[in-house]
Amino acid sequence: MLATEKVQPTRKLPWRTATVREIIEETPRVRSLSLDIPDWPGHRPGQHVDIRLTSDDGYQAQRSYSIASAPEAAELLVTVERIEEGEVSPYLSSEVIVGDKFELRGPIGGHFVWSAFMTEPLFLVAGGSGVAPLMAMLRHRAAAGNKNPALLVYSSRSFDDIIYRKELAALAARSDGLKVVHTLTRQQPAGWTGEKKRIDPEMLSRVGFSPKEQPRIFICGPTQLVESAARALIELGHDAGLIKTERFGPTGA
Ligand SMILES: Cc1cc2nc3c(=O)[nH]c(=O)nc-3n(C[C@H](O)[C@H](O)[C@H](O)COP(=O)(O)OP(=O)(O)OC[C@H]3O[C@@H](n4cnc5c(N)ncnc54)[C@H](O)[C@@H]3O)c2cc1C
Repeated sequence: MLATEKVQPTRKLPWRTATVREIIEETPRVRSLSLDIPDWPGHRPGQHVDIRLTSDDGYQAQRSYSIASAPEAAELLVTVERIEEGEVSPYLSSEVIVGDKFELRGPIGGHFVWSAFMTEPLFLVAGGSGVAPLMAMLRHRAAAGNKNPALLVYSSRSFDDIIYRKELAALAARSDGLKVVHTLTRQQPAGWTGEKKRIDPEMLSRVGFSPKEQPRIFICGPTQLVESAARALIELGHDAGLIKTERFGPTGA
């Protein structure tokens, strides 16, 4: 059986006021927001926050967003992909400006978390904006000087849709045991020699860690990608108890 996803009770977490300090354009459909949050208690890589928006007439909408920054960073970053017709993501990914304020509570989640104290290989699988909590893990790994083997297999629609592209390349160039494998599922630039198909058992078996190495596995992204990657890794012989998953939404990269 797949490791169950536990959700921490959030009722008692206070709502805080977050102020947008900086906006980073990651891709045409994705922005990261650097937030100032008074009395932020700190977080573990992989955790998320709830963001609540209130309109002038009092209507409220609330959604979850992963924390993309490392615990070591001064700022708290969330990375939001615009879902057309969505209630909350179009505001956060397109309309918000520096100085805007909204309510936020967290950190939330105790299951989908990784610490640089862990010595087993780290095996990350992401689709689209599902890379956000995994980026928090990789930023934490670099900040803590962890040099144990790590791999990110990351599916994006096209080269321009790769979130954190330059930072991922810089992290992989540190020669500290991290390898990043991109797959571009819809469109590839001229001369692309990398992966071109959806993440599948063949790819995971070819580029991934062997089950014998007992890697800690974190999979995050669209529901379909998460479920098919988890199923494939179990079929390849990975221990289901070492696989942790987080689902963002209904569609596939
Ligand atoms: C624990 C957790 C962490 C998350 N972290 C992030 C994050 O870091 N970054 C991020 O961008 N999102 C993240 N999400 C998804 C986020 O919470 C919202 O679901 C997403 O932003 C869509 O919200 P919306 O209000 O814009 O769309 P909604 O108004 O909720 O939905 C509009 C329409 O879009 C569909 N839809 C909803 N979500 C998706 C999706 N992901 N892909 C395609 N269609 C969708 C709905 O079925 C509906 O038909 C996370 C979700 C969870 C549960």
